[in-house]
Amino acid sequence: MKYSGLHFAILGAARSGLAAGRLAAMHGARITLFDEGDPTKLMKNIEAAKTLGFNIITGDEAKNCMIVEGDYDLAILSPGFDVNWPLPVKFSNANIPLTGEMEFGFTLTDMPMVAITGTNGKSTTTELISAMFNGCGKRSLPCGNHGVALCEVIVVGQPYDVLALEVSSFQLETITTFKPHISLWLNFAPDHLDRYATEADYFAAKFRIFENQTAEDFAIVNMLDIDRLGPLMPKVLTFSANQSADFEYRNGRFYHQDTRVGDASRLRLRGRHNMENVLATLATGWLHGLSFDAMLDAIASYEPPRHRCELVRELDGVEFINDSKATNLHALESCVKSLDRPIVLIMGGKEKGLDYSPLRQSIPGTVRSIVTIGEIGDKLCEQFKDLVPCQKANDMAEAVQFAARAAISGDSVVLSPGTSSFDMYSGYAERGEYFRTAVNALI
Ligand code: ADP
Repeated sequence: MKYSGLHFAILGAARSGLAAGRLAAMHGARITLFDEGDPTKLMKNIEAAKTLGFNIITGDEAKNCMIVEGDYDLAILSPGFDVNWPLPVKFSNANIPLTGEMEFGFTLTDMPMVAITGTNGKSTTTELISAMFNGCGKRSLPCGNHGVALCEVIVVGQPYDVLALEVSSFQLETITTFKPHISLWLNFAPDHLDRYATEADYFAAKFRIFENQTAEDFAIVNMLDIDRLGPLMPKVLTFSANQSADFEYRNGRFYHQDTRVGDASRLRLRGRHNMENVLATLATGWLHGLSFDAMLDAIASYEPPRHRCELVRELDGVEFINDSKATNLHALESCVKSLDRPIVLIMGGKEKGLDYSPLRQSIPGTVRSIVTIGEIGDKLCEQFKDLVPCQKANDMAEAVQFAARAAISGDSVVLSPGTSSFDMYSGYAERGEYFRTAVNALI
């Protein structure tokens, strides 16, 4: 077995850390699992790890542990772990090689994969690609940063023809050999400036998706970013809903090399940004030799995931739309630009250090008024009150009431926060559910 006699540390005892541990153990490694979290909250995972025969170090013991060179042969980071956090730093200071869960999984499988990255639309496109493949008779699974971790897919052992692998910038930071045959670059906009010192650092992390690709491989990229990306080793296919490209969307129709290949009327997805996700999906399928008709049939029966420009309810001619997944300015802007009706916008949440001033130019003519929430609520009111009426609400129920009062028939009330939710909620899904509940309570 590849790793017999070796001792691996797994950093992070959540589901994907456990899967990485299981995969390494299947290849003969001895495993010690580290997690700085409160052991009482990790009980289920600790039990699972024990039954697998892993050594487990949690809570204060993990926080205070000393790591010495030679203690471990490799440390595997759970997705979402920052290499600069104190625990991984202890391992790198002890000269123990660090690798990410995704990179580790990649070295132990030969399943073909399409790797999907971008600032926004990753989950939607990952699901779309998987649904498209399955609908066209090729077994596929959405995985990676979205759904099950790559290591878990490999441990479970079910064969797939193509994996649709969502890849985050954090996971790309820890790659060495990761080399998808097809990489997909959806878009790029500043985000995660709470984690990256500069926009250039964030870009550089994402750009690593192309790092090991050769001229035998493919990159499907948004035409908008083509100059910024510069020359790439893999063969490049472009897509755009705004300008000419290999795969194009205009006036409700999809084109490949200027030939009409289908139209959007049958799809349940809304917004030009989603049409770019569809174009990227069509390009992926085209590279696999699939017919556009079969691909569009599969895409048409795809049910879009919740909290992404999702219609919750219509009341007195006002549409209430939940776009809680908009956790950065780029997603907020694309939502605002992709809707046709006047908008009463509910935005705000955690302070992520983002600059909201670019939004000013999208407001006149699209947004009627703004209701703000959360940590940055006051700051946002200050920033936009000269353009449209702005009001700060104390919670989601109040925000929905303020917005419903400000809206008139024919408007859309849209929750598109433009930042993350952790100042008030456990995540965007909980924030979206609070919005749904408040909207459904309106009379
Ligand atoms: P991610 O997984 O990258 O966060 P999601 O598919 O979950 O992406 O969508 C996140 C947010 O971005 C949602 O608000 C959605 O409406 C918006 N969005 C989806 N696709 C795109 C796109 N191609 N460009 C810009 N925004 C998008």
